[in-house]
Amino acid sequence: MITVYSDDHRFHDGKVELNDGKLVPCFEMPRRAELVLARVKATGLGEIVPPKPHGLDPVRRVHRSDYIDFLSTAHDEWKAEHGDYDALPLNWPVPGMRRDVRPQHIDGKIGLYCLDVGTPLTAGTFRAITAGADVALTAAALLGTGERAAFALTRPPGHHATSACYGGYCFFNNAAIAAQALRDAGAARVCVLDVDYHHGNGTQEIFYERGDVLFVSLHSDPVHEYPYFCGFADETGAGAGEGANLNIPLAWGTDATQYVAALDHALARIEAFGVDALVVSLGVDTYKGDPISRFALDHDDFTAIGARIAGAKHPTVFVMEGGYAVEAIGVNLVNVLQGFEAAD
Ligand SMILES: [Zn+2]
Repeated sequence: MITVYSDDHRFHDGKVELNDGKLVPCFEMPRRAELVLARVKATGLGEIVPPKPHGLDPVRRVHRSDYIDFLSTAHDEWKAEHGDYDALPLNWPVPGMRRDVRPQHIDGKIGLYCLDVGTPLTAGTFRAITAGADVALTAAALLGTGERAAFALTRPPGHHATSACYGGYCFFNNAAIAAQALRDAGAARVCVLDVDYHHGNGTQEIFYERGDVLFVSLHSDPVHEYPYFCGFADETGAGAGEGANLNIPLAWGTDATQYVAALDHALARIEAFGVDALVVSLGVDTYKGDPISRFALDHDDFTAIGARIAGAKHPTVFVMEGGYAVEAIGVNLVNVLQGFEAAD
């Protein structure tokens, strides 16, 4: 399997996030991608290629232009107002306040375009996320050259980013960008299968009213887990997208047996829907040792997950998402890819 990778992810290197009322070092760090890359090399998974530049037009297919424009200048505006450190939001336009007035101050803009306090926006963020989108787009394009599968080794992750809001460590929704690119390249129907521990609220929002992109997510039940305000089983899509959204919330402590049963349910739905290509939002924060998650999967379980996904027999792009047990991330993530290849 070909891996697409760019060193430019390192330009996004937040110092602190607000977690449980404390400012703590960011869980989402460059070392995550470096350890996955090292594992790809150590296991001989396959060729590693740089991304090709695609520009921002494919990103505009899933993100609003005003949001992209905001991200491109946000840190410069922040720095001019507050100084040269990472940007975090101050407040939000909750119900009862106005969303139809565009703030002129950077603090107001961040409140409009950001959904949490865990996602510092840094001086290098825009460069990193632009490279990340190129990584996802290059991996998706490999399917058009006859590759059965490709791996987009990218960070920061993407699945929490909505069409016009960042958060959950995510800015550009790489999986959604890849799925849209596959549609634009001729795939009639595409599925995004999200196996990250957290619900992919951004991907859901982007495709919620579309019948050509199926979104299926297995995740920790939002009744007790981030992102809390969506990801429930009764969210099934709307309009043309009615029936094209499947959420499978799972309890804290979910083990391999329970997880694989849920994955089989997800794969049966994908089979019934009928797709030409699959994008996997590949988070491994379902690992038992993850510091911010509460599932119970072990190293070998990720191999089994990869094998199950291979059984769907679709051209597949894997896009890296979460996984914060940093020293285990390389093994867990590459186990999925090796499990896929071994079963293929
Ligand atoms: Zn996650």
